[in-house]
Amino acid sequence: MSQPSKGQKIVKNPPIKDVRGLQAAMEKWFSHEGRQYPWRETEDGYEILVSEIMLQQTQVATVLKRGYYKRWLERFPDVQTLANADEDLVLRAWEGLGYYSRARNLQKAARHIMEVHNGVFPRSLAEIEALPGVGQYTAGAVASFAFDAAAAAVDANIARVLTRWCDFRERIDTTYARKQLMAWAGSLVPDAGGRIWNSALMELGQHVCKSGSVACQKCPAASWCRAKDPLLLPIKKKRKAQVAVEEHVLLASRSDRILLEQEVGRRRRGLWKLPVRSIEEIPDDSSVSKQQYTITRYRVTMFIHELQNVVARENERWFRFEELAELPMPSPYRRVVVDYLAGREKAMKSQ
Ligand code: SF4
Repeated sequence: MSQPSKGQKIVKNPPIKDVRGLQAAMEKWFSHEGRQYPWRETEDGYEILVSEIMLQQTQVATVLKRGYYKRWLERFPDVQTLANADEDLVLRAWEGLGYYSRARNLQKAARHIMEVHNGVFPRSLAEIEALPGVGQYTAGAVASFAFDAAAAAVDANIARVLTRWCDFRERIDTTYARKQLMAWAGSLVPDAGGRIWNSALMELGQHVCKSGSVACQKCPAASWCRAKDPLLLPIKKKRKAQVAVEEHVLLASRSDRILLEQEVGRRRRGLWKLPVRSIEEIPDDSSVSKQQYTITRYRVTMFIHELQNVVARENERWFRFEELAELPMPSPYRRVVVDYLAGREKAMKSQ
């Protein structure tokens, strides 16, 4: 990341006239247009933190429509329950959302709150930012949404809106741009509280001032916005191209058991998956099918080799079929296992 050069001073105030008028227009618009989400109907710091962490790399529709948020709060309704839960249960509840370090960090944050704050969710921005897995954006979001603090929170949506309002034509993935946008966000947030303001900014970025389209004619901020060519903003470094890779996994069963391997890597540590082998280790006559999935910038073609008489290696274990539902397992492998068990059951019924 580049540091501000001599010519790139951080300017506290954005180039916007009549900030009060903008604040009032946004608030009025949000009172009519703001969507109802469960995390907008609570002032519980823990519930808001859960929503923010879930939404970091997952879309609202997935978190809501597939029931992740609701299920999580039913299973771990408060900080204490999450702090005391088995890690396996925590990872299982997160299954399908990916980026499992988020679930681990949530549990670490819950344990931190139990140990340092006697189980009471902290209110100050600094204390919230000190929670494991919580960065500057998340701390600002939680402090403003839960406690109505006048805290800035700059996520991708808000960064895009600010960039356009200010016609900011610098690359935004630099330290300088991050600091500049934070400074503007901080000076725009109303002293009276940031809950409505930050929610309205996010809403504008999600539904009006989007990355691929803008609806300026129905934008409450149009009179204040300086963007000349909004769709060219924000300026970002080009994304790295997707990389195609192959993965060979075993679907090895033995009477009522299946062989699984426990992940030791950082991203999915502790989760169970189909055992991975190099192509050289796979017998030529194995029955093979394939599926594709994407993880970060990798487009993975997974070859699934159905084999008998496999010997378990280190980090591998035979699990009874009925144990599988409780095991945390990344989605691509879960789909294969579920299909396999369904096919097996169908075959047995037709015998
Ligand atoms: S006027 Fe257009 S470009 Fe400016 S904030 Fe509104 S939608 Fe975005």
